[in-house]
Amino acid sequence: MTPACPLCDKLIRLSELPSEDIVWQFPHSVAFLGPWQFFTGYCVLVSRSHHCEIHRIPKPDRDAFLDEMLLLSQAIEIAFQPRKLNCESLGNQVPHVHWHLFPRRDDDPDTLKPTWIALDRAERDDAERRRLQTAPFSRADIAGRIRMTLHQLQAPTA
Ligand SMILES: [Zn+2]
Repeated sequence: MTPACPLCDKLIRLSELPSEDIVWQFPHSVAFLGPWQFFTGYCVLVSRSHHCEIHRIPKPDRDAFLDEMLLLSQAIEIAFQPRKLNCESLGNQVPHVHWHLFPRRDDDPDTLKPTWIALDRAERDDAERRRLQTAPFSRADIAGRIRMTLHQLQAPTA
């Protein structure tokens, strides 16, 4: 754990978060429901251990972490049937290893572009921010659908 790391800090304060924000607690990672639910089912999967590059995670833990990412990805696909899933691990702002799993909708006006272009617009435009935070379902429903699918896939829990 690194005290100055916002994701390490979030991991030690899980009990303070609303229940719909935590989708699943895997043995090696925690799946959070992301804020941008226009991309309905968008999750951020955070490694439980503080590493800044995936290859620095010791192999058995890394393999398990990647399997958890793939399971979550599969669950989101089953739950929301996106046109395409974007699975991205960037870490430019917060280096602690995490994945962004963005399901891309058929009606996305930016369907051929990375989500970050719209999210960059949202930083300067309130209407765009609201559009990208708004989903056809409540956050609790979205988290519940993904959880139900992970249960059906017999996903491991911590
Ligand atoms: Zn960290």
